[in-house]
Amino acid sequence: MTSRRRFLQSSVLAASAAALPSLAASAHDATPGAVKGARVVSTWDFGVGANQAAWPVLAAGGSALDAVEAGARWAEADLCNSTVGRCGNPDRDGVLTLDASIMDGDGRCGAVAALEDIAHPISVARRVMERTPHVLLVGAGAQQFAIEQGFPKQPLLTDKARAAWNEWRKTSKYQPQINAERLDNARPGDKSNHDTLGMLAIDASGKLAGACTTSGMAWKLHGRVGDSPIIGAGLYVDNEVGAATASGVGEEMLRNAASFLVVELMRQGRSPDEACREAIDRVVRKRPQASKTLQVCFLAINKHGEVGAHALHRGFVYAVCDAGKRDALLDSRSVYTTQQT
Ligand code: ASP
Repeated sequence: MTSRRRFLQSSVLAASAAALPSLAASAHDATPGAVKGARVVSTWDFGVGANQAAWPVLAAGGSALDAVEAGARWAEADLCNSTVGRCGNPDRDGVLTLDASIMDGDGRCGAVAALEDIAHPISVARRVMERTPHVLLVGAGAQQFAIEQGFPKQPLLTDKARAAWNEWRKTSKYQPQINAERLDNARPGDKSNHDTLGMLAIDASGKLAGACTTSGMAWKLHGRVGDSPIIGAGLYVDNEVGAATASGVGEEMLRNAASFLVVELMRQGRSPDEACREAIDRVVRKRPQASKTLQVCFLAINKHGEVGAHALHRGFVYAVCDAGKRDALLDSRSVYTTQQT
């Protein structure tokens, strides 16, 4: 059973997708001083577990940056997740390649793309940020850097992922799915063949950080890089305004510099919900036909801790954790409310 289903069974699934109120309204009561104002949000149902891994850092008065790294590492180690980390599905050639990025609200950032045989790309991304003059390392160079930094090189492709790849090779049809298993009309065995953990946090001092980690689109061309490790596409954070992250078919986020767009829309005065909605509308306007058959999802938080989300298609859920709630899972609004094929 996928982590998504497991969490849907065990978590609070709120019916409403209304934007979460600011922290001042929701978490001021009986909260120990250190966690006042802290909140972490993540994409998809596996975001619940990731939030739970991040929360102790925030609850102890730790930084948003440490929190999102802890949360992302949890997701990367999740043995049930076929779209993030070590258990991800491989590319067309059967090679598992991982993408990740991390950013804080002061504009510091690091990322790795097409990284092979290293279990925690998010931590390598953080080392790129903290120990090199660069932002993005890719492929063999990223792996070489990781090894130099002491990360063990190990074969990651699981038997399950190899079996899924062998099954896919019978048709070799590249068709990203719209988070099929959450839809009412999903066929048994339908599974999403892509998804990303995008995580945003605000700590007790009001500082923001974000992390994004994924194995990308299953069965992608070898060498394909999505939005997740591209600062401004899959992730963007600015302490002056807020932060945004994305999941879904990364080519759409790359075309629209989408996470940067969401943050800039918030800078212009939009709420996180409005900013995510407007960014989704832009995807639709640019590619009206394509947008009917692929998923794009945005999640945002502003510097006051208000949270919003929007997706192209229904089925996008996001997890919220703060002093008042630990495992809330909310349904996002979407442009299309029925599955289009
Ligand atoms: N955005 C990821 C990618 O394109 C996949 C996903 O989040 O669904 O690689």
